[in-house]
Amino acid sequence: MPSFVERFSVTGRRALVTGASKGIGLEICRVLADAGADIAAVARDAEGLADACREVEKLGRRCVMITADLATIEGPGEAARAAEEAFGGIDILVNNAGIALVAPITEASVEDWDRTMAVNLRAPFLLARALVPGMIARGHGKIVNISSQTGVIAMEEHAAYAASKGGLNALTKVMAAEWGRHNIQANAVCPTVILTPMGRKIWSPPEKSGPVLARTPLGRFGEPVEVADLVLYLASPASDLMTGQTILLEGGYTAL
Ligand code: NDP
Repeated sequence: MPSFVERFSVTGRRALVTGASKGIGLEICRVLADAGADIAAVARDAEGLADACREVEKLGRRCVMITADLATIEGPGEAARAAEEAFGGIDILVNNAGIALVAPITEASVEDWDRTMAVNLRAPFLLARALVPGMIARGHGKIVNISSQTGVIAMEEHAAYAASKGGLNALTKVMAAEWGRHNIQANAVCPTVILTPMGRKIWSPPEKSGPVLARTPLGRFGEPVEVADLVLYLASPASDLMTGQTILLEGGYTAL
């Protein structure tokens, strides 16, 4: 049996990470590269992607920057093709890019609803559809969809976001059902608030965070690296028996 280091390693694997220009996606790039993967970093902001690639290259891995707008119908397919051309194939797809446009249901716009669905739900579907034939041909693949606790439990003013993440959880199960026979695992990660620079700014007022933390058994929010570590597990051979799961990473919030 391979050592635990080999079981949790992604050495020689090629990962496409969306939303790699900042926040959780940037941390996922760092952790996967640290564990041996080459990275195709996808987002719109070229400067942020250049930062991500610098971090990956510092760790001795290859990185290719792919600027793409995942809200468009063509963007995800074009990004997938560019990544496959650069690396000759993609073994790990991390659908991390996401947007949260917050409003009460009666005030939410149709445009915001459609944009949320395009980035959070349609892009993961289109990227997976484009990359899975190559995974099938090589006999293995890992898909990790970054969803949200809000795809499982309700949060006011998050109608489109919650619907998109709930949809992503359902899509993950269908991916698992259709592609398990090809040794492709698909799982979703559902985090609580994660303290990215933006998350820290939004959630630092105690009057906002207090009520949520009061009913969270661990009494704190998450750090980007804690999401990235779970992504590494789901991208590595250690998780080869796990597929179709929506894994809550929320300090126990939903256990109560
Ligand atoms: P950020 O807002 O910090 O980053 C979002 C990323 O998505 C950026 O890299 C952005 O890149 C990319 N992105 C957004 N729109 C598009 C687009 N149209 N085309 C291409 N890329 C796009 O978010 P987080 O790091 O906080 O969140 C990452 C994921 O984790 C999301 O799916 C989010 O829903 C989920 N999540 C986050 C939580 C949190 O508290 N932070 C909690 C639970 C889930 P660019 O702007 O360069 O295009």
